[in-house]
Amino acid sequence: MRDMNLTTPSLLPQSSSSANWYFAVAIPVPMRQLFDYLVPASLVPTVAAAPLDFIGRRAQLKFGNRELIGIITSCHQQPSINPDKIRAIDSLLDPKPILTSEAIATCSWAANYYQAPLGEVLQSSIPQQLRQGKLAPQRKAWRHTTEGLGLPNDALKRSPKQQLTHQHLLANRWLADDELDTHDIPRSALKALQAKGLIEDFNLDKDKINSLHKPNEEPIQLLKQAPLPLNSEQQIAVDAIRYHKYATYLLEGATGSGKTEVYLQLTARVLQAGRQVLVLVPEIGLTPQTLGRFQQRFNCEIAELHSNVSEAKRTSGWQAARDGIARIVIGTRLASLTPMQDLGLVIIDEEHDLSFKQQDGFRYSARDLLIYRASQLEIPVILGSATPSLESLNNAIRGRSEHVRLTKRAGKSVPPRVKLLDLKGKQLNAGLCPEALVALQQTIAQGQQALVFINRRGYAPALLCHHCGWSAECRNCDSKMTLHRHPPHIHCHHCDAQRPIPRECPECRMRELEPQGQGTEQTEIWLQSQFPDIPVHRIDRDSTRGKSAFEHRLEEIQGGDPMILIGTQMLAKGHHLPNLALVIIADADQGLFSSDFRGLERMAQLIIQVAGRAGRAETKGTVLIQSHNPEHPALELLLTRGYHRFARELLNERQTCNQPPFSYLAVFRAESKRAENAQEFLSLVARACAKHTKPSPQMQYLGPVPARMERLNDRFRYQFEVRAQTRAKLQTLLRKVIFELDQHALSRRTRWSIDVDALEL
Ligand code: ADP
Ligand code: ZN
Ligand code: ZN
Repeated sequence: MRDMNLTTPSLLPQSSSSANWYFAVAIPVPMRQLFDYLVPASLVPTVAAAPLDFIGRRAQLKFGNRELIGIITSCHQQPSINPDKIRAIDSLLDPKPILTSEAIATCSWAANYYQAPLGEVLQSSIPQQLRQGKLAPQRKAWRHTTEGLGLPNDALKRSPKQQLTHQHLLANRWLADDELDTHDIPRSALKALQAKGLIEDFNLDKDKINSLHKPNEEPIQLLKQAPLPLNSEQQIAVDAIRYHKYATYLLEGATGSGKTEVYLQLTARVLQAGRQVLVLVPEIGLTPQTLGRFQQRFNCEIAELHSNVSEAKRTSGWQAARDGIARIVIGTRLASLTPMQDLGLVIIDEEHDLSFKQQDGFRYSARDLLIYRASQLEIPVILGSATPSLESLNNAIRGRSEHVRLTKRAGKSVPPRVKLLDLKGKQLNAGLCPEALVALQQTIAQGQQALVFINRRGYAPALLCHHCGWSAECRNCDSKMTLHRHPPHIHCHHCDAQRPIPRECPECRMRELEPQGQGTEQTEIWLQSQFPDIPVHRIDRDSTRGKSAFEHRLEEIQGGDPMILIGTQMLAKGHHLPNLALVIIADADQGLFSSDFRGLERMAQLIIQVAGRAGRAETKGTVLIQSHNPEHPALELLLTRGYHRFARELLNERQTCNQPPFSYLAVFRAESKRAENAQEFLSLVARACAKHTKPSPQMQYLGPVPARMERLNDRFRYQFEVRAQTRAKLQTLLRKVIFELDQHALSRRTRWSIDVDALEL
C-alpha cells in the first residue's frame, strides 16, 4: 500500500523477483492511499517498454473479497508492501487511457486539497457507465464521399433537407449520428444522400476527425448566428481577456446586463483558435436558456454534462470532450473534472451559486477546482455573477483577480422599481399584505405576469395544537413536520419521513390542529380563489417532478399570458421571463437573523436574483419586498445602495471578525446513533489538532459542538471547526491530523468527514 501524500521511498528489501512491475491503482474505497497490484506476466514487456501508456487506464481487480474497478496512476518496480502479498490485477479494461494526464493531475490536486481519497475523486470524474466497467461505446457519424465533396453548394436545392445536410457537412465536415435532432436533420435525408453515394458513415474517433480537417482550407463555419454588436462596457470586457495566460476575471453585472453575450463572444474567439471551452452553470434543468443560447450561436458539437442527460449521452459527451470532438462542454458541477483535449477557456456562470460546492462524499468546490485547473493550463477563467460571492469579490478588490463590471442593462430592458412593504400591524392573507394584493390585481389587469417568491415548500411549515401547544415533530430529527395538502400528509424536509395528518392532538385529544406559517401551497390555494380566471402556478420541487415538467411550465410562462407564479429558489435562477412585470418577495426576514455568518450574504444574493426576474424585456418591472423589519440597516443598505456596496460592507465586517475570506475554514463532522461516539471522535480530532498546532489567533479551534440540527435521521451530529490564517497552515495541519486519525481505530467506527472551505456551518 502506498500513501499518496508522502513520497517516502520503500524501505522494504527488494524481493528476488526484481523484474516485477506493479501498477499503483486508485480504487474507489474510503482510504486515502493507492494500492499496488502486480502487472500480469503477459503484460510486463509492454509495460516495461512504455509505462506511461498505462496511466489512466481502468483495471478490474479484487479488493478484499470484492470485485472493483480502479484507475492506474503509475507503473513502478518498487513494491510498497511485501511483494508476496501483492495480487495481480484481473484484467485491463481499456486499450488506451480513458483519462488524460492533465485530468489525473487535477484529481490528485483535489484529493490532496480536499483530503479525499484519490480513488473516490477519480471515480467521481468519470461517467457512471465507465465506472461500472462498461466499454467505451463507439459512435457513428456521417461524412461526404469524394463525390459528395465535389458537389456544388446548391446542387440539392429541390430537396431542402438534403440540401441542409449537404451544407452542414460542407461547413462541419462530419455529423455525429446521435446529433441529428440537435441540427434538425431527418434520417431520411441521410439515407437518400447515402443511396446517391454522396455521403458515408464512419466510426467517430479523434484520428478520423483530424484527418477530415484540412488546415489549408477555409476555417469551419463556426457561427450559426451573427453576434450582437456589443455596447461599450461589453466591448471593454471582451477586450480585457488575455487568452494565453492564466488569470481569473470577475465579470460582475446585473441580470440582463449582457454577460451571456460576453461569454458567447469570448467562446467564439477561443473556438476560432481551435481550442475548447468549458461552461459551468448551477443547475441545467433550471437554466436551459444558457445552453439554448450556445446551441443557437455555434455550429459545433456541444457536450451536455449534467444529471438530466441519459447515462449513454453523458458517456459519449464526456468522451467527445476528451477527444476534442465536442468543442464546448456545458455542464453542472460534475462537469468540472471532465478531461479535455485542449481546454482554452473556462466560464463559470452564477459563480456564487451554492450548487458548485458538493456537500457530501467528495466535498469540493467546482469553482475553486476549475480556477486551479485553469492556472495549471495557463488559460483564463471567467466568473460571472450579478451577486458575486464575497470570496470572489475580495479577490477582485485585492487585485488577485481582474474585475470587469457591466453596470447597464443590455438590450432594451430597464431596471425594476424596488419598494419595501412594512408588514407590521398589517392584515395578512396567505402571507401577503393588502398592498401586495392590489399590485397583483393591477399587473393581471394589464395583461402581465407576476411572481410571488416564498422559499418554503408545502402548505405550512408547522402543524400546531391550538389548545395545548403541541406541534408535529419528526421522530428522527430535531425538526417540525411540514404540512402538505397535495397530497395530504405531513413531511420532514430533512430526512424525508412522511406520516398521515393526525386528526386530533395526540397530547390533549382535541381536534384543534392548525397550520402555522406560510408555504407555497397555501399561497397558491388562496391566490387561485382570488384570481379564478387566470392560471396560478406553483413552481417548486413538488410541482415539477419528472424531467420535463419544469421545462414545459417554463415554455407556458414564456408564452406571456397573464398568470401568477408562486415559486421557491427554483425560479430565482437565470430564467428569461419576458412578460414578468411584478415580483413579490413574501418574506425578506428569514435571512436577516440567520445564525450562519453567511446568512446575510445569501439573503442579499437571493433578493437580488429574484428581483432580477422582473422587467426583463420591454416591460418595466416592480419588485415588492415584504418585511417586518423594513428599517433593518442591512436591508436598507442593500436596497438603497445595491449589492456591490452591501457586499463591501459585509466584507469589512468579516475582516473585523476574522471570518472567511479573511481566514480559512475546515469543519470535521461526525455523526452516530449514540451522541457520545461522535463526540468522542471529535475530541480525538481536537486533541490531535492541538498537539500539532497550539491554538492561537493564527489557528483557532471551536468544538466539538452540536451541528445546527443536532439530531437528523436518527443520528446525533457534532462538528469541530478549524480556522486558520493561511491556506498553507490549514493544509499542513489537516494533512498531519488526518494521517493520524486514519491510523486510529475510532476513525473506522465513526461516520465522519472533513469539509475544507466549508460553506455551511
Ligand atoms: P445576462 O447574462 O447578464 O443576464 P444577457 O446576455 O442574457 O444578460 O442579455 C440580456 C438581454 O439583452 C438578452 O435578451 C440579450 O439578447 C440582450 N443583449 C445582450 N447584449 C446585447 C447587445 N450588445 N445589444 C443588444 N442586445 C443585447
Ligand atoms: Zn393538544
Ligand atoms: Zn426528519
